[in-house]
Amino acid sequence: MIIDLNQAVEFLKNNDDFLILTHSHPDGDTLGCGFALCEALKSCGKNAVVRCGDTAPEKYSYMGRLCEEDIEYDNIIAVDVADAKLLGKDFEARFGSRVKLCIDHHGSNRLYAEKTLLDPTAAAACEIILEVIKALGVEITKNIADCIFTGLSTDTGCFRYANVTPRTMHMAAEMIESGADHSKINIIMFETKTRTYVALERLALESMKMYLDGKCAFITITQDMYRRSGSDESEVDAIAAIPRQIEGVVVGVTMREKTDGTFKVSMRTHEGVDASEVCAMLGGGGHPRAAGCTVSGNVNTARNLVVSCIEKYLQEDVNN
Ligand code: 5GP
Ligand code: MN
Repeated sequence: MIIDLNQAVEFLKNNDDFLILTHSHPDGDTLGCGFALCEALKSCGKNAVVRCGDTAPEKYSYMGRLCEEDIEYDNIIAVDVADAKLLGKDFEARFGSRVKLCIDHHGSNRLYAEKTLLDPTAAAACEIILEVIKALGVEITKNIADCIFTGLSTDTGCFRYANVTPRTMHMAAEMIESGADHSKINIIMFETKTRTYVALERLALESMKMYLDGKCAFITITQDMYRRSGSDESEVDAIAAIPRQIEGVVVGVTMREKTDGTFKVSMRTHEGVDASEVCAMLGGGGHPRAAGCTVSGNVNTARNLVVSCIEKYLQEDVNN
């Protein structure tokens, strides 16, 4: 059931113990949402913990720490999680059908939760969380401001993408007024690379192939590349932005091999190609400019499958 801000706030006010879940392979938005909401609920005298099926990369640690104890509360809230399967295999099995409130900004949200507060016009789920926190009457502390600013900045590629609205900018300004360390956060998120990441990026660039008359650039990251670079999956997020940067490319794809033999696809597009629609053909979803899905097969069949869906989409676009 879709609910509005007041109904979400009622749910939070009327209950006491909350288990907040982020999506697996957590990013700045889902963690910013989780830690900001957790602090706000605690300041209302409630119990709350943030948990994730994966560990969080160290660079996000200034916002807070995930709860590693196996704490389980009945009031489960999922933040920035469009589909129960994005909780990760174990968490999906344990909590996927018991989420009471989902707060999200993906138009492709599967409405798997009992109640969903959804705003696809929000550039980051943190925009919605800030409205919830304000409606709870909680003061915006420096830490809440850091968390919300992180979500706004990371989900907009440092305020560059088409999803930015005046509201995004107003909220970012407000977070700076409340003490957010904007330049420190942006340096950590956009201007700092580990050596292992750079080694992985080099291998990723070498793997790049062009398809569809140069409209599609495709990076493939294999398990072997993690071994050779000393990097791991937690460092691949920034790579997803690279293929779309090539002149003439309208669809950039980064496909990474998982340990179970499947491939996770990150798609980034320019105007005119709805990444969420292309990924929906493969059982995934996301936003118009950034979406994802999981495919199986060997490297070549998986890559061909993704390219053929993009080709089909572009073909239909021409015919319409
Ligand atoms: P990323 O490529 O950074 O993993 O994801 C880009 C966007 O697409 C994110 O907003 C993410 O939630 C969404 N997304 C990624 N993979 C999937 C998927 O398998 N299913 C759905 N529904 N959304 C996805
Ligand atoms: Mn998000």
